Amino acid sequence: MAAARRESTTIGKAAKREGGPPARSSGLRRGSNLEHVADFNDSVVLDAIRRARTGSSRAELAVETGLAAQTVSDVCQRLLDQGLIAETGTSSTGFGRPRRTLELVPASRYALGVHIDPATITYVLLDLGGNLVAHFSRQTSSPQDADVIMAGMASALDVLLAGSGIERDRILGLGIAAPGPLDIAGGAMVDPPHLPGWHRVELVDRLHRATGLPVVLDKDVTAAAVAERWAGGATGNSDFAFLYLGTGVGVGLVSGDIVVRGRSGNAGDIGHLIVDVDGPPCGCGQRGCLGTACSPLFLIQEAVAAGVLPASPDDGQLVQAVRRVGALCRAADDGDERAVAILHRSARRLARAIVTIGNLVDTELVVCGGPAWAPAAHHYLPLLRPMVAERFVMREIHDLSVVGTGLGADVAAIGAACLILDERFAARP
Ligand SMILES: [Zn+2]
Repeated sequence: MAAARRESTTIGKAAKREGGPPARSSGLRRGSNLEHVADFNDSVVLDAIRRARTGSSRAELAVETGLAAQTVSDVCQRLLDQGLIAETGTSSTGFGRPRRTLELVPASRYALGVHIDPATITYVLLDLGGNLVAHFSRQTSSPQDADVIMAGMASALDVLLAGSGIERDRILGLGIAAPGPLDIAGGAMVDPPHLPGWHRVELVDRLHRATGLPVVLDKDVTAAAVAERWAGGATGNSDFAFLYLGTGVGVGLVSGDIVVRGRSGNAGDIGHLIVDVDGPPCGCGQRGCLGTACSPLFLIQEAVAAGVLPASPDDGQLVQAVRRVGALCRAADDGDERAVAILHRSARRLARAIVTIGNLVDTELVVCGGPAWAPAAHHYLPLLRPMVAERFVMREIHDLSVVGTGLGADVAAIGAACLILDERFAARP
């Protein structure tokens, strides 16, 4: 069996785990009773306690994880000693002694997350349970100047931490979600399309030196999928995709309960999938690519051409276009049929992409999110669901559900922090 490879770059003391049994389709993994994988077993048990939400007894954990009762007891004692779990009460099955219930202690550890976007940089602090403790966003005032942005990030993180009142030694690390392409091995962003001037920015090394924290870097769409798995509505789904609509468009994939990162950690670049043969020309030479035809820039161009929105000197600026998607959606909310038609055309294109994703990876769920999704979600969802249901090839075998993320506009930043929780505490094969 091949050992698992963690594709993100980690500097500092964030733990790495290798080896162990294969994944179960249920999402939980079976433990091993071998002594040398005690650390893996700790993760398996902690993962089971975390997912149980309402608490588990040691006996239930033994059944759930496949570990021997004594092994579960030993692991629980270690987790109790570290303050990661607590005994919170008793449960009774009606037979024998009542059993002590174990629950996660969310306030025992925390993780920081940063999402670098051409429009906004978002900072979040999560507790061990994946709950949002603090967050703030800053508009990217000079998005082309990496040095200026990097200089502000460490101080912004200090402000976030100071405001939360949480001791620094409870912070496990800092996760960064960034647009691709990424040099994961080198911990760097490499010429992202919407951040000209960011030729090679070594985020991991620079932020580790600035904060002293372990740092993990991953693609923003992958981070969004990890967020959905840890803190969102897909915690029980072993096969799902996250369709991220922001300044760019991309897909995060989870298959067989494994986050799919690809050969170089850059999986999910779906921007040039053709979704409308009569659509707008793309820089790649094709017409109707998803990333162009469903981009905020094109939606706003259509809205201006149709007279829904006034022309603006910033109409060619992608960053401003993302912010103006809300105005287009409000016009549709107010009954402007031209605005409704623009969103309807965009939904048809998105539906083609969602069906292709579903057919390609045989998934059961596509979660949509991102800043260009949020204001349009209530228009898109009722249109997407019947379109997808009609065209999904496996529709007689299983459904392909389409939902909006419940994590809001901060989903990629939450995902960045979840990368740290995932790195430290998720049981992986
Ligand atoms: Zn293209």
